[in-house]
Amino acid sequence: MSPSLKAIFRLILFFMQKLSNYCLFLFMLSLLSLYSCANDVVSSKCDALDHYVMIDSSKLDNKVIIIGIDGFRSDAMTQETTPFLYEFSQRNAYVNLSHLTEEDTYSGPNWSSILTGVHYDKHNVTDNSFDGRGFHVFPTLFNYIEQYADLLNTSSIVNWLPINQYVLSQDVDFSINSQLNDSLVLQEASKVLLNDDPHSADVLFLHFDQLDAAGHNFGFSSSVVEYSASLSILDSYVDSLVGIIDNERLSGENWLCIVVSDHGGDGDSHGDYNNVHIRETIFIAEHPSLPFKVNHESNMTDIAPTVLDFVGITSTEFDCKTDGQSVLE
Ligand SMILES: [Zn+2]
Ligand SMILES: [Zn+2]
Repeated sequence: MSPSLKAIFRLILFFMQKLSNYCLFLFMLSLLSLYSCANDVVSSKCDALDHYVMIDSSKLDNKVIIIGIDGFRSDAMTQETTPFLYEFSQRNAYVNLSHLTEEDTYSGPNWSSILTGVHYDKHNVTDNSFDGRGFHVFPTLFNYIEQYADLLNTSSIVNWLPINQYVLSQDVDFSINSQLNDSLVLQEASKVLLNDDPHSADVLFLHFDQLDAAGHNFGFSSSVVEYSASLSILDSYVDSLVGIIDNERLSGENWLCIVVSDHGGDGDSHGDYNNVHIRETIFIAEHPSLPFKVNHESNMTDIAPTVLDFVGITSTEFDCKTDGQSVLE
């Protein structure tokens, strides 16, 4: 090859290499934008449609209590440790002790999925910092209730404050934004349920955190005394709350009771989705007479559609965005 041909050849090679780098760069860029736009694609697909909301006025008097228990490992729910929950799960109810967490097993993503009805790749909460949260695009179930049925009184009483700070305090009528322990959560919840203080509760979210703390400090297992003792205390709290609800049912109120957890645990953590004791947790939805789905494998995104279904709110926007299903038949 003559020197000049060689030079031309090198020049071509040089440009080809540049071009392939550039193509690779473009390809990576498009992958990246595809990933970061996943939320926007769903939201713009849903936002482009003409949405409507249907309210079933016969259901607007219905009431819901969601009892959230952080870090509830399924196999710790036994007749011995949790006598009330054991009996409660024999009632007319949807019961799943293999209720599936998000693949991201932090608390933040899972409570966010419970409250929005979408998976974490949409609401974008990937850890407990709640950075990047997209609740303006994927609103919480309480946001829908307040938008379309604002006569309903909504409350959120939590031990783990980030739930109110980052997710719910803007969306509910009443929330407590100072630190409560579990027994104070029970006390405040009982006030709202019994004395209508500060107002009667129609849809109430509660979060108990001390079981998760016992798990991190001593181990997530029914064979760990501190963990099972903490679970037994919570069992008595649920007993007391459902006792109030059962009384209100006797006076004609139509309540749906939900007990749900965000993840299980093993050893002193809950970081590994591949571990069945972490990945599977509990979800119980109980009502005296309504039929529930059978053979349905629930996950975190099923709670929000269940609640909206029960209070008679059908939003085509929510239905377009949600990844979950109501467990009511
Ligand atoms: Zn948690
Ligand atoms: Zn934890």
